[in-house]
Amino acid sequence: MPEGDTVWLAARRLDAALAGRELTRFDLRVPQHATADLTGVAVTAVVARGKHLLTRFAGGLTLHTHFRMDGSWHLGRPGARWRGGPAYHVRAVLANTDWEAVGYRLHEVRLIPTGEEDLLVGHLGPDVLGPDWDPQEVARRMAADPAREIGDALLDQRVLAGVGNLYKNETLFLTGLSPWTPVADVPDLPAVIATAHRLMRANRDHPEQSTTGSLRRGETHWVFERQHRPCQRCGTRIEVGEQGPADRAEYARVTYWCPRCQPGPTG
Ligand SMILES: [Zn+2]
Repeated sequence: MPEGDTVWLAARRLDAALAGRELTRFDLRVPQHATADLTGVAVTAVVARGKHLLTRFAGGLTLHTHFRMDGSWHLGRPGARWRGGPAYHVRAVLANTDWEAVGYRLHEVRLIPTGEEDLLVGHLGPDVLGPDWDPQEVARRMAADPAREIGDALLDQRVLAGVGNLYKNETLFLTGLSPWTPVADVPDLPAVIATAHRLMRANRDHPEQSTTGSLRRGETHWVFERQHRPCQRCGTRIEVGEQGPADRAEYARVTYWCPRCQPGPTG
C-alpha cells in the first residue's frame, strides 16, 4: 500500500534515474495535459512530500502526482516491455536515453509552476520522512485538538504528512493505545509520533513494509489486515472496525486493534 515510505523510495529511484538528464520522451495521458511536451527539457529533481510526488523540470515546471491506493511508478530501459499493468492504466511516461519511467494509476496528475507547489502541498504538516521533520510541531498540532481520537489525528496529513492506515494501526498497537483514545488522554504523545517515524524510517529503503521485523507471510504486521487472527503478542483475536469521518475513503476508515494490548475506548 502506498504510504509515505513507498513514495519516498519511488522519489529516490526516479531522482537517480532522471535528475540532471534531458527527457527524450514526455507523455502525460490525462486530458488536461495531453498536449504538454517537455521533451528536451531536463529533470532537476524528484522529491516526495508526504504521499505526494513532485517531479521538477528546468524552466520552472513541476509535475505533481499522487499514488492514493494503487498508483505506482515502474522504471525500465527504453523500449523494454512495460510491466505495471494494462496500457490504459498508464498516466505518465518520462524517459531519457537510459531510463523509462512509467506511472500507472496516478491521481491528481497536474503540471504546475514550481513556485506554486505550496498550493498543492503547503497545507501538509511536517513530513515524516522529509528534511523538515519536526516532531515537536506535530505534537503541537495534535494537542491543538485534544478531543480528537488519536487514530484520526495520525491520518491527518495537515498534522503530519506521510502516515497512512498501515502505519497508523501499527503505531497504535506498539504504543498500546486504543485508536479511539482522545489525544488529551494519550499519556506520551511524543512516543506515538516517534514510533510512527521509526517504523516509516525503517521501511523507506525497500519495498517490503514490515513493522514486526519479520518478512514471513502473515507476520509482517502486528494488527493491520490481521482481523480475526491471534495477536502475535498475546493471542487475543485482532478486531476490526471503522473510525474517522464518513467522508474519508473507506479503506482509511478500517481500523485494526488488539483489545488486550490496546485497552481503551472502542468507538
Ligand atoms: Zn495482543
